[in-house]
Amino acid sequence: MNASSTSAAAERLRIVLVGTQHPGNIGSAARAMKTMGLSKLVLVAPEKAPDRDTHAMAAGADDLVESAPVFATLAEAVADCRWVLGATARNRRIQLEPLHPRDAAVRAVQATASGPVALVFGRERTGLDNDELQLCHAAVHIPSDPAFSSLNLAAAVQVLSYELRCVLLGDTDATPVEGRTPPPAEGVASHAELEGLFGQLAETLEQIDFHKGRAPDSAMRKLRRLYLRANLDSADVRLLRGVLADAQRMARLAAQASVAGKIG
Ligand code: SAH
Repeated sequence: MNASSTSAAAERLRIVLVGTQHPGNIGSAARAMKTMGLSKLVLVAPEKAPDRDTHAMAAGADDLVESAPVFATLAEAVADCRWVLGATARNRRIQLEPLHPRDAAVRAVQATASGPVALVFGRERTGLDNDELQLCHAAVHIPSDPAFSSLNLAAAVQVLSYELRCVLLGDTDATPVEGRTPPPAEGVASHAELEGLFGQLAETLEQIDFHKGRAPDSAMRKLRRLYLRANLDSADVRLLRGVLADAQRMARLAAQASVAGKIG
């Protein structure tokens, strides 16, 4: 990558801190990012607003903290993103197969070709909850000692920002991830477009009685994965939503007919 495409890609890489409990960690994370040439920090419902501790730890990276937008939910913070990666201290117990940091960084930088990309970090005590992980398209795990796997939040930001920097500088022997579908012509669908599709899909499955008493979560998780693998563009999403709308219409007609049958 040449210098201008490196900085264009870095501009599209967003570090999202969810529910941060210690304001000092926000400052340390900002410093970690700035040393690696990243500038887009985003906060989601921090437990405490940035304060003196934040600025003490930022040590000159205060500009990142001052320009960081604050959102109420993760979904809002990543609505325009084309790829969302959740950093998790736990290797097991999560639904998504975690990527190695180097592979994750290669994919993240590649995905900036289609638009903004988010790396999401959880709370110090409890990490990201399951609903938040559901919003991520992939997970990344730093292969720490399984007996003591949780890095300090800003240390995790540092490691992953470093991996991104190595990829941005071309300073890595990582070969492009094989089997990846090239970005579609109309541009990869945004996070918000995909969540709209998943919301309508969940509704439709209820209306056509797909689950038949089973818990809906497992089917939805598998369907999410399947659609995310397909690298949908906006036109694909519109097409699928059109199909779902017709299925919903038919389900409504069937419901009306059965009520009419019972009355008649
Ligand atoms: N006790 C929490 C740890 C949270 S550490 C838990 O069990 O999940 C705060 C955040 O730092 C995590 O949510 C994650 O985003 C990041 N992090 C910490 N260790 C990590 C690791 N080994 N790999 C990837 N991310 C990690």
